[in-house]
Amino acid sequence: MTKVLINERLIEEKDANVAYNDRGYVFGDGIYEYIRVYDNHPFTANAHFERLLRSAKEIGLELNYTVNGFIELVRELIAANGVVNGGVYIQVTRGTAPRDHAFPTPSVKANITAFTKTYDRPYKLLEEGINAVTTEDIRWLRCDIKSLNLLGNVLAKEYAVKYNAQEAIQHRGETVTEGSSSNVYAIKDGVIYTHPINNYILNGITRMVIKEIAQEKGVSFKEETFTLDFLKNADEVLVSSTSIEVMPVVKLNGEAVGDGKVGPITKSLQEGFNRYIDTHS
Ligand SMILES: *Cc1c(COP(=O)(O)O)cnc(C)c1O
Repeated sequence: MTKVLINERLIEEKDANVAYNDRGYVFGDGIYEYIRVYDNHPFTANAHFERLLRSAKEIGLELNYTVNGFIELVRELIAANGVVNGGVYIQVTRGTAPRDHAFPTPSVKANITAFTKTYDRPYKLLEEGINAVTTEDIRWLRCDIKSLNLLGNVLAKEYAVKYNAQEAIQHRGETVTEGSSSNVYAIKDGVIYTHPINNYILNGITRMVIKEIAQEKGVSFKEETFTLDFLKNADEVLVSSTSIEVMPVVKLNGEAVGDGKVGPITKSLQEGFNRYIDTHS
């Protein structure tokens, strides 16, 4: 039977419930991480939980957990559910309290919940690439926090679905920011461009891995903003995240990107990413 983690206890999925006045449910007052599992191992788990602790700090949520404490929790859950390839979702809310915008005083215990999913890597899409559409970035100005408030992201993804695309690439005015749940890269004349790390984007762990691979391979990796026009004229476009890895975009707003095929730099990054998985799981 599938187990779910509720505040340090592994509970049968059918019995797993949270309170109606949990602040995550009422306000989206919380944070989360999504971690890939390859061969039973939580991938780049240290980086994920360092980011979770950072998100907690940025929203003033106090947590009595270390990175290793969190890793221990998800390892137990992965083992209990026998996940070989899949992922772990973990969220932390500011706790259960009567509805009031201000933080509860005295503070209440954070609610930590987690569940697993089992699925294979998206091999077919990685080989063929996906369609993306562009849409205005309507989110708040702290996109560096992996917050439970995902309405802007949800609406962007639904826009993609409506136009038969797998991802929506967002832009603030002319500046491309990131996907609904991924980071975005435009490759031109052998150089990889991606939005710099600041409050407009989420600092992806997959992005950090891609940066490392590019540097190892001697491919120039420029953390600079670029425009929608630049994106449309790129030789290659790709998006990255924990679940979609190094995903080529071969069609943008219905038009071919470059020659419409997965490009050589994207393929080289994918090859590097496969090697990274093998040596880090
Ligand atoms: C989680 C997320 C990403 C990707 O981050 P990874 O750590 O690579 O999974 C990118 N953008 C947004 C908005 C996200 O929520």
